[in-house]
Order: sequence, then C-alpha cells, then structure tokens
Amino acid sequence: MSTIRQKIVDLLSEQEMNARDLSQSLSIMEKEVYSHLEHIDRTIARQKKKLLVVPFECLSCGFKFDARKKWSKPGRCPVCKKGHIRQASYRIVPV
Ligand SMILES: [Zn+2]
Repeated sequence: MSTIRQKIVDLLSEQEMNARDLSQSLSIMEKEVYSHLEHIDRTIARQKKKLLVVPFECLSCGFKFDARKKWSKPGRCPVCKKGHIRQASYRIVPV
C-alpha cells in the first residue's frame, strides 16, 4: 500500500472526514481521494479494519446515494434533479 493511502487510513482511523478534508490534509486533488478510498475499501480487510461510509445525500429530497457504487461526488440527484448534495464522510474502524 502506498504511503498516501496509509496516511488516509491513519487519518480515518482517528476521525471521520470527508473527501474535501482529506484532500486538504494531504494536498491532493479531491478526485484522487476518491480513487484511493475505492482502493482502500477493497484492501483494508488485510489490516483487520473496515471502511465505514456515510453516503452522499441529497439535501433537497433526502435521497441517499449507494456509497460503494459511485465513489466520486454526484453532480445531481437522480430523484429531484437538484444539485444540493451533502458530502459523503468516511471512517476506518477495527473489524
Ligand atoms: Zn433529491
């Protein structure tokens, strides 16, 4: 696992963060954060940990996005078509 991914694992083991928090803490692009999270989700079990995801949610109608089907930030809500989307947040806990 690369250093940047291990840093993400360390940060999320201490506190819940969203992709913007992580991108600022690590000085990387938000879209890179999402690809790292996707990889971490597939591999974290080896460290006897798991990634918990609070999914993106539409602030207009309350629709919750399937967290593991789409990692990057959705542009708009498929139900009400509005673009007020709350960030997903992430936490890593021991299994
Ligand atoms: Zn909506």
